[in-house]
Amino acid sequence: MIKDPARLQALLATIRQFVIETCIPQEALIDRDDCIPEPLVDAMRRLGLFGHSIPEAYGGAGLTSEELTLVNIEVSQAATVFRARFGGNTGIASESLVVDGTAAQKARYLPRLASGEITGCFALTEPEAGSDATSLRTTATRDGDHYVLNGTKCFITNAPLADLFTVFARTEPDTPGAHGISAFLVERGTPGLDTGMAERKMGQHGSPVGDVILKDCRVPASAIVGGEPGRGFTTAMKALNKQRINLAGLCIGPAIRLVDEMVRYAREREQFGHPISEYQLVQQMIADSNTELHAARALVLETARRRDSGEDVTMEASMCKMFASEMAGRVADRAVQVFGGSGYMARTVAERFYRDVRVFRLYEGTTQIHQLNIAKRTMAARAGALEPGRS
Ligand SMILES: Cc1cc2nc3c(=O)[nH]c(=O)nc-3n(C[C@H](O)[C@H](O)[C@H](O)COP(=O)(O)OP(=O)(O)OC[C@H]3O[C@@H](n4cnc5c(N)ncnc54)[C@H](O)[C@@H]3O)c2cc1C
Repeated sequence: MIKDPARLQALLATIRQFVIETCIPQEALIDRDDCIPEPLVDAMRRLGLFGHSIPEAYGGAGLTSEELTLVNIEVSQAATVFRARFGGNTGIASESLVVDGTAAQKARYLPRLASGEITGCFALTEPEAGSDATSLRTTATRDGDHYVLNGTKCFITNAPLADLFTVFARTEPDTPGAHGISAFLVERGTPGLDTGMAERKMGQHGSPVGDVILKDCRVPASAIVGGEPGRGFTTAMKALNKQRINLAGLCIGPAIRLVDEMVRYAREREQFGHPISEYQLVQQMIADSNTELHAARALVLETARRRDSGEDVTMEASMCKMFASEMAGRVADRAVQVFGGSGYMARTVAERFYRDVRVFRLYEGTTQIHQLNIAKRTMAARAGALEPGRS
């Protein structure tokens, strides 16, 4: 749903200008230095990028899913690391609060997340609990009006620089699985919370990812998201459900950029006396990439619209995330091929984006986990569909 087309067009134009004039020229340097310069983060704050999904009542832009998808497609045409810097705040790290936070929690944190004054992160994954997040072992033991948290989270985006941690822990140790998990809001500086060094990783350099270590970390019971224990996994799934549509949008921007880069390179590069763009095998790679990104865009925008109208799009969100992330991988692979040997060299956008988009198929549910979810829901919904009398 687009609430105000004129306002949205103005926002998209502003972001496009920021992407082209500010972000793209700094991509290679940020990749090399593994760090986004603070003045650039300030520029993101001034543009309101940290708060697009947060309701207007808390200082955000209150964008709908469709609007947010269009913004994500625009912003991710620059290296995805830019979006990773503010993406927690305007996505997974604020969404738990938006959907399930108490009035006091929203008032305390959402305005500061929206402005970018603080950076949030979402700490679910553990060394032994990845795809099977319900097997998490971090404990939260009740002690009077407090809980004491113990455990380790790993691969947490922005953990090394975050101010606010949404930590998922087991409040009922004897209840296995999703029940008995609660989400806690833990501020940096709370004794017993520590963060590890940023991991060295394949791509998205400049987006720090690391451990969150909790050792007898004491937080008030009022730090539980929503105030009631045992609802943390439902909260996580609500946040992730929306985030999967966001992430799918973030896979489309790089594909658009790479098609543009393939076209530019193919027209400039000459072999056998002609630009390689004249060779139909090269054209095929461009045609397949552009077709696939259009298919992904149509699927994601349709799903975002249906979510905005109140439909349950749990299965479709999985389809979006799986299809768009796999599509981005195929497009990046073709881009390297069109660039030839240059595409393997670290100075080219094809090489950088190839590394950057690889993670999209891994986090927020791997491709395989989404395939399982889609299959389960398809089989439940379509069972008996061909029987007489079924519409
Ligand atoms: C750069 C980066 C940033 C991240 N940021 C965050 C973050 O901010 N917060 C957070 O909580 N987590 C984060 N993660 C963690 C991420 O969500 C997990 O890595 C992901 O869920 C996969 O878990 P895993 O790595 O333990 O892999 P595993 O679950 O061990 O999976 C390994 C392989 O087995 C397959 N597999 C597992 N189970 C099945 C099954 N039942 N059927 C078929 N195949 C299966 C998987 O698809 C995969 O191919 C991040 C990860 C990365 C790499």
